[in-house]
Amino acid sequence: MEIFKIQDLTYYYPNSEKPALDNINLTINEGEFILLFGESGSGKSTLGRVFNKIVPEFYGGKIKGKIHGNEEVGMVFQDPERQLLMDRVEREIAFGLENLGVEHEIMKKKVMECLSFLNMWDIKDKKTYELSGGQKQKTAIGATIAMGYKILVFDEPTSQLDPVTAEEILNIIKRLNDELGYTIILIEQRIDRCFHLADRILFMEDARLVFDGKPKDFVFWC
Ligand code: ADP
Ligand code: ADP
Repeated sequence: MEIFKIQDLTYYYPNSEKPALDNINLTINEGEFILLFGESGSGKSTLGRVFNKIVPEFYGGKIKGKIHGNEEVGMVFQDPERQLLMDRVEREIAFGLENLGVEHEIMKKKVMECLSFLNMWDIKDKKTYELSGGQKQKTAIGATIAMGYKILVFDEPTSQLDPVTAEEILNIIKRLNDELGYTIILIEQRIDRCFHLADRILFMEDARLVFDGKPKDFVFWC
């Protein structure tokens, strides 16, 4: 089932002469694991931010084309530090639901589910500023999935982590897709670590989407 459709989308940041997205056409289907990659500056983050409407609603700028799809989209960024707002892990995961005024019992249940899925029971009372990079990223993921979004965009979630921790985070992302059915858009600059996880590859070059297809076809395309 289609959950997002982008048609002839061109986008300019404010005061920019050059489009950050140049005539993008794209359909996202429920349950897909999409790997979005390309060199730095090719437009990956901008495209990722189209899904949760940060672009253009927050940045402004000029947009042409159409975006169909109303599903709310959760985002996890490269630097989890900037995403963590509360002093303790459990509070952080509960924060979004608390803000929505969700009933206490329901919130507790949701937070427990997140802690179990992420295997974070042992650190639930830890101070967020004392966490390792990987634990911070897991907390940011927990806080995002607690909100119940069906689509998650991960913007270079492993680029500040050591290889072992990066692998652990990628495994969690894969399990979110396999076991819980989340639609995943994973943005990465390097693909060697995550190529095998995706069922679809989007490759950007200079604001354009130049490949959209299966990983095995990408190998031949290169
Ligand atoms: P990537 O994620 O592939 O590194 P980005 O989407 O961050 O690429 O950037 C695409 C282009 O848009 C780049 O030329 C970048 O400099 C520009 N850009 C990104 N964010 C902004 C912004 N807030 N204002 C102006 N230009 C931006
Ligand atoms: P990301 O890893 O998300 O691509 P970047 O390091 O590219 O992050 O950018 C960090 C922040 O700076 C983002 O909010 C991005 O939109 C903004 N930014 C990137 N390029 C530009 C630019 N040319 N002008 C203004 N802001 C920019």
